[in-house]
Amino acid sequence: MKRAAVMTIGDEILSGRVLDTNGAAIASRLRSLGFEVTYHLTCADSVEEIVRSLRFCAERADAVVTTGGLGPTEDDVTHEAVASFAGVGLELHGAILDQIRVRFESRGLHMPASNERSAKLPAGGEVIANDHGTAPGCALAVGDLLVVSLPGVPRELLPMLEEGVVPLLRARFELGGVTRIRVLKTFGLTESRLGMIVERLPRPTGTLHVGYRPTFPEIHLALTAAGRDDDDVARVLDEFEATLRTALPTQIWGGEGDSFASVIGAALAARQWRLATAESCTGGLVAKLVTDAAGSSGWFERGYTTYSNESKVALLGVPADVLAPDGPGAVSERCAAAMADGARRAAGVDVAISTTGVAGPSGGSLAKPVGTVWVGLATPTETTARAYRFPGERGWVRTLAAYAALERLRRLLLGLAEHEPFAAREDRR
Ligand code: ATP
Ligand code: MG
Repeated sequence: MKRAAVMTIGDEILSGRVLDTNGAAIASRLRSLGFEVTYHLTCADSVEEIVRSLRFCAERADAVVTTGGLGPTEDDVTHEAVASFAGVGLELHGAILDQIRVRFESRGLHMPASNERSAKLPAGGEVIANDHGTAPGCALAVGDLLVVSLPGVPRELLPMLEEGVVPLLRARFELGGVTRIRVLKTFGLTESRLGMIVERLPRPTGTLHVGYRPTFPEIHLALTAAGRDDDDVARVLDEFEATLRTALPTQIWGGEGDSFASVIGAALAARQWRLATAESCTGGLVAKLVTDAAGSSGWFERGYTTYSNESKVALLGVPADVLAPDGPGAVSERCAAAMADGARRAAGVDVAISTTGVAGPSGGSLAKPVGTVWVGLATPTETTARAYRFPGERGWVRTLAAYAALERLRRLLLGLAEHEPFAAREDRR
């Protein structure tokens, strides 16, 4: 695999004032092209530091893409630094200068002399057109390293990356083949456990990279395969997807374009079942996740957010003795079951899920510590509740509780065994 580095140039990035979204965009595009991205470097608007960083990259990458420092002000020194690194001079491109002048004049402005800087590129460099701004980019081969310099303004950089840089990299590195990414979405295992399982799986022959994209509490696996043609790449992806599905038969729930709720919705629709929710500690989060899915009106009837004991009794018919001072209380198996059962009846639907627990930070006790959540599930044939102990702060507990409720439903609909109730316990802090 060819190796690439990403260099972000700018004091504002170093200081943390501006978040380096360009670096992320460049890296992910390089990856999908088939590069292994080996380094991200961020350095100051300084010729010396840029040259130093380029030297670092020269020993460790075949290509480096830089962003920032191409503007008209004196702290924009990327071209100067690249020229110095390459041991060449700067060359004034008359055509570029004319374009910049025209750009200014078309707005009724006179081009400031400082903009001449932007038309001076390292000698021998290839111009990368900038249709959305004044400063063009530049690609220059320095020994075995290809240095590609792009501006910092994201609106300019992103189209240049796609339209100018990608074709150039494909040609230069003979990336004539195709690169495809396939996403498989998982829930229920921590990143480290997932990693341990996936690491040990046999890999198909061919170029394949497995990436982990945690979008709490989901973890998405991004399989990037590169090969001669679509068939070649599809073979690698199909083969490894089959391996993954065998190893993770219950944890993989969908792919690109699927949401956790949309997958459940499809399973509900297949049975012509409608769903209701009864939420306490999640405060409507389950209903929110459910209705994020387009078309959810086809299978979602209503959600009850019954936060107080009174509302649990009045809206869901939870027996008063459950909530009485000497009863099991709101955070209990009986309450969760009664909530699910009550929601199912009151809404007149086939299935209902419920949540009730201690999200924290206060309200925990020895018997019911923060993170204790009961999840109820009521179907036409039975009503059950399961206990969970989730880690982390309030937001984590609530999100995990909402997912646990949806997960119980998903597993029921797909005929899978119930998940480990404490699976999320050692999740990342
Ligand atoms: P140019 O080469 O176009 O002059 P520059 O980085 O020198 O780019 P700046 O004035 O530093 O110009 O940045 C222009 C804008 O681009 C700023 O609004 C800045 O927030 C944004 N920007 C610069 N670098 C990045 C980056 N790595 N990620 C996201 N935004 C960035
Ligand atoms: Mg800058």
